[in-house]
Amino acid sequence: LFVSKMKLKLAIQKSGRLHDDSIKLLKECGIDINNGVNKLKTEASNFPLEVFFLRDDDIPQYIEDGVADIGIVGENVVLEKKKQVDIVEKLGFGKCRLSMAVPKSMEYNSVEDLQNTRIATSYPIIVNEFLRKNNIKAEIHEISGSVEIAPGIGLADGICDLVSSGSTLFMNGLKEVETVLKSEAVLAAFKSIQPAQSKLLDKLLFRIQAVKKAKNNKYILLNAPNEKLQEIIALLPGMKSPTVLPLAEAGWSSVHSVLNENDFWDIIESLKAAGAQGILVVPIEKMVI
Ligand code: ATP
Ligand code: MG
Repeated sequence: LFVSKMKLKLAIQKSGRLHDDSIKLLKECGIDINNGVNKLKTEASNFPLEVFFLRDDDIPQYIEDGVADIGIVGENVVLEKKKQVDIVEKLGFGKCRLSMAVPKSMEYNSVEDLQNTRIATSYPIIVNEFLRKNNIKAEIHEISGSVEIAPGIGLADGICDLVSSGSTLFMNGLKEVETVLKSEAVLAAFKSIQPAQSKLLDKLLFRIQAVKKAKNNKYILLNAPNEKLQEIIALLPGMKSPTVLPLAEAGWSSVHSVLNENDFWDIIESLKAAGAQGILVVPIEKMVI
């Protein structure tokens, strides 16, 4: 009875770049939460889950302290905070990179050009590691926001900050010169998670993986003349092997299969060339292999 009342405590960003996609992922996993504004915490109605809304930077600490068991947060934050937290699954959203940038006017050929510079960043730990690995001696100025203005006001020679399109750098007269880290949102969990919570985490993870797989795959249906069937089937991977059903019109079959997003356009072209007709491509909602 005690175990059945146990809840998994999940921390997500209260507001900001990861908030909406985190909520969306829970929905896609079939977990209903009422996401009232200005709430600190809420419960799922159909999964033993409690959701806390927090500042993203605080999430690793809250996990280490046991306020939450797991969290959805940028990989960059997990690596910077160095708490008792493991990355259990990459989530495919919140993609960005942590990059070094210097004024456009500065001549830059290699990482050696960062020698003896001053670098402003909100990621001193990650930047320090990067500099050490590259044998660069530079001074790190830790600032918590608006890092991109630091060179313009004479605080630093260069910066290390999160970039997605690069337009913020460009608007501030900076150019991106080194990628320090590629990041995306991850599901992070306490290193010493208790068995009961760990079981619930596995349940959640099973759903997340089914959603992720479905996103990377498409369901494909097509009509094929029977004499071309072997050639067409050979082009299709399918989960086991394609499904083939006879059409009402004699001499034709309907072929059903699942295609990976990455191979998609190449295979579609080959299918057409091989004589496939009426090709339909349909999104998949969940996929369990
Ligand atoms: P909070 O109020 O929770 O502290 P924040 O302002 O620190 O929010 P956001 O700007 O909302 O954080 O970014 C959250 C995360 O989104 C980042 O840690 C990073 O992993 C990811 N991200 C994706 N693209 C970008 C980007 N272009 N700039 C900054 N972060 C990005
Ligand atoms: Mg933050």
